[in-house]
This record gives sequence, C-alpha cells and structure tokens, in this order.
Amino acid sequence: MAFNEDTEKIIKVTVLKNALEYKGKSRVDTVIAKVIGSRPDLRSNLKNLIPKITETVQKINSLSLADQKALLEQAAPGESQKKKIAESSQAPLPPLQGAEIGNVVTRFPPEPSGYPHIGHAKAAIIDEEYAHMYNGKFILRFDDTNPLNEKLEYYEAISEGLEWLGIRPDIVKNSSDDIQLLHEYGKKLILSGGAYVCTCNQKTIHDLRARGLPCECRNDLNVALDRLKKMFDGSFEHNAAVIRFKGDMSNQNTAMRDPTLFRIIDGEHPKIGNKIRLWPTYDFAAPVEDSIDGVTHAMRTKEYELRNALYFAILDRLGLRKPLLIEFSRLEFNGVPISKRKIKPLIEKGIVKSWSDPRLPTLMGIKRKGFLPDAIRKFVLSLGLTLAETKPPVETLEAFNRKIIDSYCMRLFFVKDPVELQIQNVSSKEIILKNHPNNDLGTRKVPVSDSFYISAEDAAKLNINDEIRLMDLYNIKIIKFEPNQTRKALIAAAIPENIRQGIPKIQWVAKSDAIPYKVMITRELYLGEKYNPNSLEICEGYAESFVSMLNIDTRIQFVRFGFCRIDDSNNAIFTHR
Ligand code: ATP
Ligand code: MG
Repeated sequence: MAFNEDTEKIIKVTVLKNALEYKGKSRVDTVIAKVIGSRPDLRSNLKNLIPKITETVQKINSLSLADQKALLEQAAPGESQKKKIAESSQAPLPPLQGAEIGNVVTRFPPEPSGYPHIGHAKAAIIDEEYAHMYNGKFILRFDDTNPLNEKLEYYEAISEGLEWLGIRPDIVKNSSDDIQLLHEYGKKLILSGGAYVCTCNQKTIHDLRARGLPCECRNDLNVALDRLKKMFDGSFEHNAAVIRFKGDMSNQNTAMRDPTLFRIIDGEHPKIGNKIRLWPTYDFAAPVEDSIDGVTHAMRTKEYELRNALYFAILDRLGLRKPLLIEFSRLEFNGVPISKRKIKPLIEKGIVKSWSDPRLPTLMGIKRKGFLPDAIRKFVLSLGLTLAETKPPVETLEAFNRKIIDSYCMRLFFVKDPVELQIQNVSSKEIILKNHPNNDLGTRKVPVSDSFYISAEDAAKLNINDEIRLMDLYNIKIIKFEPNQTRKALIAAAIPENIRQGIPKIQWVAKSDAIPYKVMITRELYLGEKYNPNSLEICEGYAESFVSMLNIDTRIQFVRFGFCRIDDSNNAIFTHR
C-alpha cells in the first residue's frame, strides 16, 4: 500500500536524519520508533509501515554521506542544522566541565580480553554522546598491552558489540600501535630519575609496599641505567624485572607507592606477534595514550579513583598535556557480574555455555534475550553520570525495551505444561485472529476443532462448573476432569457468550494447530554470593503453528506469558513481562 506524500516525506526525512546522525547508517528499529512517535496515527498501519521503512532504510544506507546530506537538504531545507541545535539543548547528560564546541575528544578504552558487556555500553555511550554533544571526536582505543590477555576474537567482538549499539567511533586504534613511543616515554622517565628498574620478586615488592618501605633498586641511577639497557635489549627473563614509578613509598595513597609501569611478558600478541617483550601496564599506558591521542575529557569508572594522582604524576614528569579526568559509577545489577574478569571463569568452568548465554550481561547475551540497542542507550542515559554505587533495577531497562517493542510485537498463544481440554458441543472451523489488538499487524487463520491445550497453571485453578473464556473464541463451562478428577485432562461444554461479564480469559492452543515449543526463562545467576541453580528454566509446551513461520530474531508477545525473542526453530527466549 502506498502512503500519502506527507507520510512518505516523514519517513524519508526521519531515515535521512538518523543516517546522518550515525555516519550514514540508519536503523529500522529507531526509525519506526521515531516515525510513530511523531505520527501516532500510523501505529494502526504498522503492517505496511514496517516494510516501507525497511525499504527506505536500505535505499538510503546505500548512498554516500554527501548524497544523504544533499537529499535531506532538498527534502527538508535547514533540517540538518536545526537538528543539531535541538539535540544539544535537549541533551540528557549534564554539560561537560570545560568543554568547548568543536574541541572535545573522548575515548572508550576496552581491553580486548573478553566480550563486551552492558557496563562497556554505559562507558562507550556516555563517551560517544559527549563527543556528539560538543561536535567533537570519539576514539575507540583497544587497550591491548598484555599479550597474555588479548585475543583477536575479542577485538572483533567489541567492535561488533559497539556497531550493534549504533556507536560509530571517529577513530579506531590500539595502544599497541604506539608501543615504540610508549617505550621511549618509559626510557625518558628512567633517564630523568622518575622511574627505575626493580628486580625484586613479587613477594618482596608486595611486602615492602605494604610496609611503606623502598627497596635497594630504587636508589642507584647507575644501576638503573645498566638495567635499563638490559630491560630494552631483552636480557631479562619473563617477569624477572619491572620498571617502577619513583613515587612515594610512605604515601597514604598506596597507588603512589612505586607502582609498576612496565613488565616483561613472553607471549604472542595478536596484533604484533612476539617481537615485543616489554609491555606497559594500564597505569602507564592510559595517561600517555590519552594525552597523545588529544583526549580532552577522559572518563572512567570510579574504582580508579586512587589512581588519579598517579595518572597526573606520570604526565607531569613526562611534561605531557593533562586531560580532565571524569568519573562515573560502575554499572552493576543484582545477581549478575558485569565484568569480564568475573564472566570469563563462568564460561571456563562451564557454568554458562558461552558469551552469548542469555543470563549474561554481555551485549551478545542481552541481544539474544531480546533487548534492543535503543533501549540500552535510553537506559544508560537515564542513569546519567552519577557517582553513587547504586544498582539500578533491571526493570528499568525492561521498561525502556517494552516501550519500544510493544507496538510491533504480535500477540500469539503459547501454553506451558499443556493439559488437554475437550469441548463437547462444538464443530470444527477455521477462525481468524488479529495479530495485535490495536495495531494492524495482520491476521492469522487458525483451524480449531473440539480439542485444545491449556496451561497446567490455568487448569489447576479450575473447578467443576467454573466458567471461563478461551480468548477470542468462546466461553466454556468445566464439566469434568478425566481421568478421575486429576487435572491432566478436562472436559467442558461451550456456553452462550452473554451469560456472565468479567469472566476470566485464558489463552489456548488448538490440538490440530499445536507445535511443541520451548521457551527459555533466565533469572539472576547469583543469589547473594551463591550460584543460582534455577537461573535457567526451560518451559515446555505448545505454541500455535503460526509461530514456526516467523524468522529467528522476531520479537513477539506470548499472551499472558510475556515478550519473547525467537531464538531458533521451536524455541524462544523470554525477554520480560
Ligand atoms: P572488566 O575487565 O572486569 O570487565 P575493566 O574495567 O577492566 O572491567 P575494560 O575493558 O578495561 O574493563 O573497560 C573499558 C572501559 O569500560 C573502562 O573505562 C571502564 O571504566 C568501563 N567499564 C568496564 N566495566 C564497566 C561497568 N560495569 N560499568 C561502567 N563502566 C565500565
Ligand atoms: Mg581494564
């Protein structure tokens, strides 16, 4: 069906604006939400609207940025400028301290040591939003300075995760690209007496640090110079020596007690092989990289607070420009570890199957569960830049997601733990059911006879002579249980509709139309400190056969059950109520 000129224009302009905002790639989900947001009347015609938007998105995404700009200018003169102003004035994040338009550089620095999770989404979205807000630059920098942790698979997973979130960095780089430069700065620091090579073993370093005492390696510059040579020509064994910052061994802040800046690691680095053995720690690489990358506002989670002094001390000693450090709280959910370090062992021990397990807060897990990237962005922005270590309820994220998907999810029937229901006085027929009560998402034909399935939970509440409505079908009255009063099978009679108002309604699946179906329900992985043995429940039952025709990834609502994402043929994952 064609839309009128007005509607076509709204769709085109929305797609173009969204594409220009995201480096030429608009997204169907986002555009649908924006179009029905500005034209609620179109909600009733989603069946035609969705294909139209999909087609327009494909067409416009294939154009160059310049062509998209020209088209937008033609379709809605002045619109691209207006948008920028409107966006910055409505920006949900507070203004950034000391930020100037056109002069802001932010970065997101993940270590490619695992799959990205929703905590990374928080950091990356905030970084990207601020760069946008001030017309600045956003850098994705892989903080890959430990060859024992990094894997190519993880670089790719992080890039894909950000791409899925609609985050498009202006620059992508690796800290390892700068390894020579980082070495130069390391040398410079030793030569200027700001760091030294320490050959004490781990335990000694640890003990002396705890007691606030220096070791002998610290004091002699000649020893330091001799060792410096050995450090860089590869004479030391793996872990045999470290370069330490000459801080203050009696400082209250233990992060200043001569922290390690470089260590010798023998391992194959996924980007540069094994020719480099001397690797900087996070404490050294982060400030130097931020400074040379031109980062103006370096944001990180609050747990690094004690290391802020070190960050600035290193830059001071190297005479490098200092970015502003800004902190925000780490995102945590109840019962779910949001940290690669905590997720990895769960996979290694086989507690969860993979990084895409829907119980995990990884982006892959969350996506598989049925959440949309837009819901994650709204959720993150709703949290803002707080420092308080509160755990936001997962329900908030669910509410954002529900709001986006509710209008375009078909309402379909699934019965869990099925119980047979036989109706006495009805004949076989084909009925037509609407796929959504208010929006036009089409209809489906369902053959019904006198045999049905209802859920055990509903059956358990029924008694002889109870009246109940089979949704969108007819009312029935329970006559008996078969066999012998157990609720494994029920016999009922159809009754006239107008007998009673407010009669309870239940979903059903016709026996002639039923397919075996499973829905995976996930719960908190941990209850307190303990693994929750019921974190994964597989609900078995029957769904109407129509469900088997839907593509994987389709989001639907099983009536009186919840929103689900189709994960595989005959199997869905519960997203939320
Ligand atoms: P982990 O490895 O345990 O997931 P991390 O902080 O070492 O945590 P990185 O890959 O180094 O992980 O993190 C990259 C960026 O993402 C950092 O700036 C960090 O502050 C941020 N980040 C990581 N986890 C969270 C979280 N749960 N909430 C908010 N930001 C986070
Ligand atoms: Mg880290």
